[in-house]
Amino acid sequence: MAGTGKFFVGGNWKCNGTKESVDKLVSELNSAHLESDVDVVVAPPYLYIDKVKNTLSARVEISSQNSWVGKGGAFTGEISVEQLKDIGCKWVILGHSERRHVIGEDDEFIGKKAAYALSENLKVIACIGEKLEEREAGKTTDVCFRQMKAFADSVPSWDDVVVAYEPVWAIGTGKVATPEQAQEVHAALRDWLKNNVSAEVASKTRIIYGGSVNGSNCSELAKQEDIDGFLVGGASLKGPEFAIIVNSVT
Ligand code: PGA
Repeated sequence: MAGTGKFFVGGNWKCNGTKESVDKLVSELNSAHLESDVDVVVAPPYLYIDKVKNTLSARVEISSQNSWVGKGGAFTGEISVEQLKDIGCKWVILGHSERRHVIGEDDEFIGKKAAYALSENLKVIACIGEKLEEREAGKTTDVCFRQMKAFADSVPSWDDVVVAYEPVWAIGTGKVATPEQAQEVHAALRDWLKNNVSAEVASKTRIIYGGSVNGSNCSELAKQEDIDGFLVGGASLKGPEFAIIVNSVT
């Protein structure tokens, strides 16, 4: 960890679970040992947020997986920042690759969402990352810097932002970035923050890695200087494995 913030581990449950499996996961998390010096956040599907909030230990904060871009109202199917706060969410994941590339959200829209969430005191996990063809074309940093700039142009302050570098080719594929590949991009992102925002923001902002993190590969990744935590998908659905990842802090 080069950043000065606490190690941060988020569990993105995506569109998974039933009442029964959510109860099981919550009870596994409640009985797991989670290192005290780590910020731990889980993002259940909207439908289960209330249930999780009422049953999960308050030591773990709750995130939404998305939020509406402005104040609520006539927006069928959307969930507003105000509603998320009302139900006890402290965080929102924005810019996830599945929102960008499956649903079609663009940099500008994601930036606006981040600005609105922060203005209402919801903290943001700001996701960025390149696709395989972009990496192969040598465009990894171009893409990541462009996505960072869209956040930087919109957010009033970085105090409540965690950056999640999630190469698209590593998400849900079992093909994790090597510690060296991840470290290289994380260091470039920290430099970008230093050169384009400030040295203070560069050192304070947590830059976490996501993409096929599991109980076996987390400790090597966690040793990298610029990796300040993880955003975990599949492996966050298993309480004991998620706890191993939380406890991989070095
Ligand atoms: P994964 O997902 O751990 O299943 O690859 C990570 C993410 O999408 O945040």
